[in-house]
Amino acid sequence: MLGLMQQWPLLCHKIVDHAARQHGHREIVTRSIEGPIMRTTYGELRERSLKVAQLLTRDGFKRGDRIGTLAWNTGRHLESWYGIMGMGGVYHTLNPRLFPEQIAWIMNHAEDQCLFVDLTFMPIVEAIAPAIQSLKKVIVFTDGAHMPETGLSNVVAYEDWLAGADGDFSWVELDENEACGMCYTSGTTGDPKGVVYSHRSNVLHAMIAALPDAMGVSSRDVILPVVPMFHANAWGLAQTAPLIGAKMVMPGAKMDGASIYELLDTEKVSFTAAVPTVWLMLLQYLEETGKKLPYLNKVVIGGSACPRAMTEKFEKNYGVEVVHAWGMTEMSPLGTLGSIKPEYVELTGDRLFDIKEKQGHSPFGVEMKITDDENIELPWDGKTFGRLKVRGPAVASGYYGGAGADQFDSEDWFDTGDVAHIDPNGYMQITDRAKDVIKSGGEWISTIDLENLAVGHPDVAEAAVIGIAHPKWDERPLLVIVRKQGKEPSREEILQFMEGKIAKWWMPDDVVFVEEIPHTATGKIQKTTLREQFRGYALPSA
Ligand code: AMP
Repeated sequence: MLGLMQQWPLLCHKIVDHAARQHGHREIVTRSIEGPIMRTTYGELRERSLKVAQLLTRDGFKRGDRIGTLAWNTGRHLESWYGIMGMGGVYHTLNPRLFPEQIAWIMNHAEDQCLFVDLTFMPIVEAIAPAIQSLKKVIVFTDGAHMPETGLSNVVAYEDWLAGADGDFSWVELDENEACGMCYTSGTTGDPKGVVYSHRSNVLHAMIAALPDAMGVSSRDVILPVVPMFHANAWGLAQTAPLIGAKMVMPGAKMDGASIYELLDTEKVSFTAAVPTVWLMLLQYLEETGKKLPYLNKVVIGGSACPRAMTEKFEKNYGVEVVHAWGMTEMSPLGTLGSIKPEYVELTGDRLFDIKEKQGHSPFGVEMKITDDENIELPWDGKTFGRLKVRGPAVASGYYGGAGADQFDSEDWFDTGDVAHIDPNGYMQITDRAKDVIKSGGEWISTIDLENLAVGHPDVAEAAVIGIAHPKWDERPLLVIVRKQGKEPSREEILQFMEGKIAKWWMPDDVVFVEEIPHTATGKIQKTTLREQFRGYALPSA
């Protein structure tokens, strides 16, 4: 017997229709690339994205076409997404922090037909456009007055282009399983791989993200997505904020402490999200200026492990709740969030921060398990660690063009490449990337645990641990450290600090000091480069 309920396809443009109808006057505030603060509303978002859809159609772009965006978080970028999706196109976010050759490779692989670009990135586009065979048009997110001189052909200023439309357009009727967005993984090894989101997965993900124990946001929140739209959908906030009708504040190109603080303060932001690096800059600015955060309630921190010291600072010094989160581009991206379940609600002090250091529990819509190398499921005891595998309606079922098929099994479990343990209350903690974990004498050593411990030393700015080949143990840990400016801790001081806090056999065999640790385009430590740099390093124990 079938249910007698309506078929109401989950389409992304329904989010913008809803936002315009129920929250039409709610603002989208942008620090524009040109400089001044610009304000639009959800009502205007709908009108302008309808124009984008109308013009893309008029210009000959079709359902299923990939349309690139190389842009910061702004109201215009948001309009382009909804316009692209609403005419049946596929927005394809490009990460400007990649090398231009990588961006060109990705655009060619996806066969991008058209590109929306911010002024900041015009030099990149000018350099790579001739190499992108499929590219027919470039639309620059600015007005005629700010349009730069350019040798590009078929290029237009966004506002001039938009002026040519009346917005008399109906969203294209689509199947909810059709593609609406694309994002390539950063690819620290091998070629980048394309993740293809569907309307259905994006809508479901936006609803999952809003849940009270996930991001827990409402129309009364003011949301500042610092995490870029080009990094895994701004963790879904580009869809979640309009879905719930929350005011949005878009930071544009400026992510330094002073600029972020100014937006938090003047726009009375209550909720924000980004990687730890951004919050380091903000916390430093707050310490230097003595400023406080009276409006901010909650900050979601993820993308890489949130240091315990950061959580403590936000919560103790500024009264801001930290929710540690883990996810992946392949998961749209949310996987787990560290909101507090009743089992832990009585905890205070260090015991509470022990829980907050974990990456959190999965919301409805994300299934997870840990397995050993033979795919045998491991217990949720908070100690045993294994390969973390996930599945759900907003988890990739494969990569564009069939790459990386070995990461998906016949039961749809996606091997995340992360190594983790899960406690009896369902809180997951990442202990490593599978390819970074150190195998010493047949046992695993978590490099993340060692790094977290080392950055707890007051003179350490950043730490990375890599495995070095060892004749007896197979691999042993080497600790690489960037010292804080003006500080000179010695190797012995660092090791002494770590002693007794971890198993003896986990202790790094050596410590080296460097000026800088290499990072990927998404801000993660680039261990492949580090391993290259220290290949053949002679450990004192070897
Ligand atoms: P990306 O697809 O670029 O977002 O990268 C996803 C990867 O980032 C994950 O597989 C993890 O290795 C890492 N990651 C994301 N969030 C966290 C976190 N909170 N703690 C540790 N690693 C994280």
